[in-house]
Amino acid sequence: MTPATTFAGRTVAVFGLGLSGLAACRALTAGGANVVAADDSPAGRDAATAAGFRVEDLAAADWSRLAALVLAPGVPLTHPEPHWTVRKARAAGVEIIGDVELFCRERARLAPDAPFIAVTGTNGKSTTTALAAHILRSAGRDVQMGGNIGTAILALAPPAAERIHVIEMSSFQIELTPSLAPSVGILLNISPDHLDRHGSMETYAGLKARLVAEARRPIVGEDDDWCCDIIERLRLANRSWVDIVSVKTKVAYGWYAEGSRLVTFAPWTGPLGPFADLAGIGSLRGLHNAQNALAASAAALTCGVTPGEIAAALKTFPGLPHRLEEIGRIGRVLFINDSKATNADSSATALAAFPRDVFWIIGGKPKEGGIASLAPYFPRIAKAYLIGEATEQFAATLQGMAAFERCCTLDVALAAAARDAAASSASDAVVLLSPACASYDQFKNFEVRGDTFRRLVAALPGIVLRGGGR
Ligand code: ADP
Repeated sequence: MTPATTFAGRTVAVFGLGLSGLAACRALTAGGANVVAADDSPAGRDAATAAGFRVEDLAAADWSRLAALVLAPGVPLTHPEPHWTVRKARAAGVEIIGDVELFCRERARLAPDAPFIAVTGTNGKSTTTALAAHILRSAGRDVQMGGNIGTAILALAPPAAERIHVIEMSSFQIELTPSLAPSVGILLNISPDHLDRHGSMETYAGLKARLVAEARRPIVGEDDDWCCDIIERLRLANRSWVDIVSVKTKVAYGWYAEGSRLVTFAPWTGPLGPFADLAGIGSLRGLHNAQNALAASAAALTCGVTPGEIAAALKTFPGLPHRLEEIGRIGRVLFINDSKATNADSSATALAAFPRDVFWIIGGKPKEGGIASLAPYFPRIAKAYLIGEATEQFAATLQGMAAFERCCTLDVALAAAARDAAASSASDAVVLLSPACASYDQFKNFEVRGDTFRRLVAALPGIVLRGGGR
């Protein structure tokens, strides 16, 4: 745990008592603050009471005695409208911050030069964070990983000179962190997301831009217009040492992909040339993962990891569950769990990773636009297996474009896809769960959907699971 000492002796309200809120309560208490915990939900309040914190109704509280409001990132700060605690804090002149801000203030006090890699982007944050941490750990570094992935930042060990914090940050967390200033800032990409919470694309992109503008070493993807604009502004501000990452073009100075090979030419890192090859690395399939791997490699190199160590570590990355996760094989048929693909854009990255013979399980609760945007990938589909609420909508889109079968549920779809893939003459068939839909019509969340798929695949006769199990 990182005790948050910058509010010692003062009273701080923590609103939103999920994992990060409870970790903030613990860290502030350990740092000598007087903590008042609050939540709109009884479950949050019960969790805080059970953990021994004083829970109060902030609606009735005297806000003049509060030094700060530590807000959970899920609580609206501005849109669709400010949460009532935000209005109260503003009226009373109480500063509003998040848990990462408490960490940053602690880092500034304890070890301002401690390496701190902050990772953001619309897509690929978790993969890049996990991969950067994996490369650094493989090279023997002392690594703490968390934030928006896994462990809350304040539950991690405190910043120290030789300890590297690799932290995933959502736009909401950036918004609540006014003194972010990481040593390395990674911005992978920007596309429309969470606009209900940020009001406009400009505000959303502006938040993402802050993470790299304040970083000592910015690493920025160059493959979308929003990020190109941010790179241009960094250049205008004379930040010419920005590490540019691209999987679309061969950049003059920076990091790019040449087929499956990762290449860098950057005067500040030394002209390395090709330094790694992703061919055959099952956990890093697809061009999107090349972007993640380039950014994670750039960050690791900045921390002194050698190109040889990076190339070796990429090969042993286990990958994250539910993101093009390789479950196993039956003969030449590969089974992939991409349950995290809850919209068409995510399924596009999955389909792009498999050039042909895809036995594709799709459906669930459809998103606006459905799968019409995936039409360029339909020639790769051997057959689609439709499940859930989206069935009729997707059947209409696929009509005349690709073969499909209505399966209703995941178990039926998997049995049919496995049967057809086994009977096909394809040399590298893949049964892919990449639903392009939310899961809520049939599952609690995408994790439960993916876990169910994994269990069903593991029970198929003849399956050889990745890692050697049956
Ligand atoms: P995040 O944490 O930003 O949600 P993840 O690493 O969990 O990102 O990946 C979620 C999904 O986003 C993946 O399943 C994939 O479909 C897509 N994705 C991952 N990396 C990228 C990338 N660099 N560019 C575009 N899409 C990506």
